[in-house]
Amino acid sequence: MTTIAPIWRTPEHCLSSERPDAPSLFFAPSELTRTARRFLAGFPGLVTYAVKANAEPAVVMGLIAAGVRAFDVASPAEIALIRRLEPAAALHYHNPVKSRGEIAFALAEGVRVFAVDSFAELAKLEAAAGGREIEVSVRFRLPVAGAAYDFGSKFGADPAQAADLLRRVAALGWRASLTFHPGTQCERAEAWVAYIREAALIATAAGVTLHRLNVGGGFPATLYGEAFDLEAIFAAIGAARDAAFGVDGPRLVCEPGRAMVASCMALAAKVKLVREDGAVFLNDGVYGALDEFPVLARTHAFRVVAPDGRARAGATRPAVLFGPTCDSLDRLPGEPVVPVEIAEDDYLVFEGMGAYGSVTATGFNGYGSLRTETVARL
Ligand SMILES: *Cc1c(COP(=O)(O)O)cnc(C)c1O
Repeated sequence: MTTIAPIWRTPEHCLSSERPDAPSLFFAPSELTRTARRFLAGFPGLVTYAVKANAEPAVVMGLIAAGVRAFDVASPAEIALIRRLEPAAALHYHNPVKSRGEIAFALAEGVRVFAVDSFAELAKLEAAAGGREIEVSVRFRLPVAGAAYDFGSKFGADPAQAADLLRRVAALGWRASLTFHPGTQCERAEAWVAYIREAALIATAAGVTLHRLNVGGGFPATLYGEAFDLEAIFAAIGAARDAAFGVDGPRLVCEPGRAMVASCMALAAKVKLVREDGAVFLNDGVYGALDEFPVLARTHAFRVVAPDGRARAGATRPAVLFGPTCDSLDRLPGEPVVPVEIAEDDYLVFEGMGAYGSVTATGFNGYGSLRTETVARL
């Protein structure tokens, strides 16, 4: 038997009729489809989805329905998930560090594209691949500013070593590619452009013709009310490839996580208390779905909804926002502005909650369970 969950018109409609006491995630499949089509239509190359941003089957199925057929996976569990939902999908195992057991699992599941940033990791692939034809993308890094946090601090070979690795991959008879990640929520195209120029220099230094150039994720999502011109970033990436490599440049691949899924979900947290000192206590916080706010050092944009579903409007004030756990780290960054009339049982509806929210929520202190509702629009 199939049960069909109700579809609400808006989060407000659900909140006012159900008045949920638990934090609620609202999923708008129409928005997911719209964003996926934007990437598929606009990016000048292959679009792969970075599964770690949100591995909910409903989200992955929505992307498949919209036409996404390739995925950046980082673990055996993500490989198994995608194999189950779309057996024919192309899988890029782009975690630069994999155990030998994980590599064996991936090969058995038909994965043929891997990333490395060291000779030690490449040696594991040499030992495991047997006679298989694989593609190896060498991950490199540059000191780049402009992202919300810097992925280069963990992964990536420096350009000189990347050239050595690339040469070795080609000598093994494998398809040799380059990959990078400019850092998440990267708001300006310059970061990709600098990386693409460097990729051409690395390929020249190695004397290797690149099979593909994977420009990573990092595309910006609307988290703070401001929308970004993704098409302008796509155009800058295509133009940078053409300028750096000429007419015969490598095919491009991207692997958006955040920007693909952030906008398809909003999270409603309920006000448990407005204290006399003005502090607002919510039923979700930094150990729950709002865990990324302190890392990005900023609280997502939100609207305040009264229990009857109406928007709180009028005069505003800054407020300290706390989560539900009994420790003082559970505080949202800054002092966001709230309506003066905010009251117990109101809801804060945060935008851009589809990426890195529900997937990293913990059950610390007995909190953190989420209910998910489907809505026509957010
Ligand atoms: C996390 C990750 C991504 C997605 O990054 P976003 O900033 O969410 O777009 C893409 N590629 C790799 C290798 C990653 O680890």
